[in-house]
Amino acid sequence: MNTAFTARTLYTPSQEIRAPLLFVEDGRIAEVSSRAQKPLPPNAAVTDFGDAILAPGFFDIHIHGGAGLDVMRTAPGELPHLGKFLAGHGVTAYFPTTVAAPIDATCSALERLADAIEAASLPSGDPAGARALGIHLEGPFLSHKRRGVHPPEYLVSPTVEIFDRLWQAARGHVRMMTIAPEIPGALEVIAEAAKRHVCVSIGHSDAELPAAQRAIKAGARHATHTFNAMRPLDHRDPGILGEVLSNDHLTADLIADGIHVSPAVVKVFLQAKGPERAVLITDAISATGMPDGQYQLGPITVDVKDGKCTANGSLAGSVLTMDRAVRNVTQFSNWTLREGVRAASFNAAKAVGMSETVGILAAGAHADFTVLSSDGKVLKTLVGGREL
Ligand SMILES: [Zn+2]
Repeated sequence: MNTAFTARTLYTPSQEIRAPLLFVEDGRIAEVSSRAQKPLPPNAAVTDFGDAILAPGFFDIHIHGGAGLDVMRTAPGELPHLGKFLAGHGVTAYFPTTVAAPIDATCSALERLADAIEAASLPSGDPAGARALGIHLEGPFLSHKRRGVHPPEYLVSPTVEIFDRLWQAARGHVRMMTIAPEIPGALEVIAEAAKRHVCVSIGHSDAELPAAQRAIKAGARHATHTFNAMRPLDHRDPGILGEVLSNDHLTADLIADGIHVSPAVVKVFLQAKGPERAVLITDAISATGMPDGQYQLGPITVDVKDGKCTANGSLAGSVLTMDRAVRNVTQFSNWTLREGVRAASFNAAKAVGMSETVGILAAGAHADFTVLSSDGKVLKTLVGGREL
């Protein structure tokens, strides 16, 4: 049977539709139209969200955990618990993200994540929470100089052989990889990963401008947590940031918690990348949604105090949630809620080549959406057209 949803307005998110009608069939969006264009079919069950906004569910392409769970240490059966927590913050899709760890530990984490991803994509139905759609490898091919909290002993020189070992362990579910392009061997790995449709993202890098440009030529098309763990921008030595901020073909993401990047520089980023290429991530760790204390981030022990995560004096991920990131963007800049939503949904999906089915409210996409108040608070989230 047909189900329809309506509210005050809907973000596709590239467009806004007033008095929308969102038709759902078998967990997918059948049609997006409006009450002005189309009368309600008599055989449809209609849910009216009143004054609220229907928006695509957020897609977090860089997240290490939440609700006490660390994605590298969870059993496959525990991941749905994280999915449920994320849905409470408007997220309906995510990439569990690794950190540099001993290669054997990484491989067994990748096997468990592949199990969870495959279990969630069985035809038995849509998950009761955010979908884990693929894996983001953050490391081990990172710069020693810009490693942040990734343990130096687990950083590895890039080779196609090691990349392939990780790829095999993940049974091909690697959809994104952060790599420092200036390390010897990186360009070959970038080219190979791009060939396998991995979104190659430059980051944790001390690259000078030409090295960043070579990476993009080799197939990199995104940048990881812009400004953090990157060679700083200098007006006579622009480095990787000069390329990330000025290249209109490159998408880039940012942690908009107001801690990792000052609000004024968040605004610079949004202006540089624009509403079509800026992507919001959380880089959230297991401590998200939990009280202050000590938490694990892969092999790293992290202290969490007053919303700040540190290990040995360096920032170690965040406790940011995506709904807050969206609201922050509207406070740090003149961006509208719709533009913030777009950066957290469609732009992320587009960056990783999945925007036909997620991050968008259009016919054929998963009926994964969040219901927001006019000030961006999450009222409800639906996955496969079902209320959670
Ligand atoms: Zn991270």
